[in-house]
Amino acid sequence: MQWESLNPDDCVLAPGPVNLHPAVQRALSLPMIHHRTPEFDEILARVLKKMRAVFHTEQPVFLLSSTGSGGMEALLVNTLSPGDRVLAINSGKFGERWAEMARGFGMQVDELHVEWGHAVKVGDVAQMLKDGGNYRAVLCQACETSTGVAHPVRELGEIIHSYPETLFLVDGIAALGAYPLPMDQWFIDGLVGGSQKAFMLPAGMSFVSFSQKAWKFVESAKCPRYYFDVRREKKANEKGETFFSSNVTIIRALDVVLNLIDEKGWDKHFLEISKRAQFIRYFAPKLGLINYSLAPSNSLTALSTPPVIDSQKARLMLEEKFKITVMGGQDQAKGKILRIGHMGHVTQEQMIRLMMCLGEVLAELTGSTQLKNSLKEMKIEMKGWWGGGAGE
Ligand SMILES: *Cc1c(COP(=O)(O)O)cnc(C)c1O
Repeated sequence: MQWESLNPDDCVLAPGPVNLHPAVQRALSLPMIHHRTPEFDEILARVLKKMRAVFHTEQPVFLLSSTGSGGMEALLVNTLSPGDRVLAINSGKFGERWAEMARGFGMQVDELHVEWGHAVKVGDVAQMLKDGGNYRAVLCQACETSTGVAHPVRELGEIIHSYPETLFLVDGIAALGAYPLPMDQWFIDGLVGGSQKAFMLPAGMSFVSFSQKAWKFVESAKCPRYYFDVRREKKANEKGETFFSSNVTIIRALDVVLNLIDEKGWDKHFLEISKRAQFIRYFAPKLGLINYSLAPSNSLTALSTPPVIDSQKARLMLEEKFKITVMGGQDQAKGKILRIGHMGHVTQEQMIRLMMCLGEVLAELTGSTQLKNSLKEMKIEMKGWWGGGAGE
């Protein structure tokens, strides 16, 4: 079978899904247990407790069996009502999706369009709030994965915090677990993370939490909701259960991930991810790639390819020839950028191999013998770069 032929060099360096840790792969292949067993109860209790530490919140965190987008929906339907005015920051595909979703639930959505590759200007949001939008919520990505941008979540939280009727809902799907995003301290009222991104698991779960301020709106929210009604889930969690069948497989693997990171230390975990980002950003220009994002997130790096080539071709060649997966661009960035993920279980050797293989692909597509000839020397430099003991 095809997956049995995977070798250790094959890797997924996309901004989700990501490479799995071997211990996680083992956890995912364990025999099934029922979710109403003392064995699972213990795992669930531990994971729920640990997730509050990951979110940096005093509030409960919920484990939903849905991809990240389901968690985005859960934030909306539990706090908002049709007709509510919402300010959606749209700086790429995921901002666009959230705005569409809010409109789908009957909200009046004002979009703040931000040029792709740029972060939102805090002053622009402040102005719109001041101009009397009477917004019930501001929607924002912590990391806009389609452009590789990190938005100034902390600064936005400080401003929105002074509006008692406005909630700050943050899509942290490609951010939470990859770099610090302390929910309570940064006045985030609704936060969502996703299993296949920084949590280094397969797709299929989202994680959400609501601030004290947001909980006040949960009872009065009039959006239709059933599966994602957190009130029911909260009661079940308080009894040590999930309301619907628990996602035993992924929750058990999440337990492993959280234990692995706890053992290593979260600071070191964040540092490793930022080191990968730095490594890519240092060597990319030597391959003729230019940083696309003006406010790059550590979760991924978006790089502009030389105008003479189609980035989609480069990523396909990288996959077919070398079994390395990175992503291309979407919409207006289609054919123009490559997006390299920094989340997941990735070794320094894999990072170096990625850049060497990418160098070969680019040399072939651009016909640059100069690039091809410089790769050998670059490899030595790359090995030296890691020398400082970033440690993985
Ligand atoms: C991946 C991603 C999503 C969508 O998550 P799914 O699991 O595909 O539903 C939403 N927002 C951001 C910022 C993402 O990176």
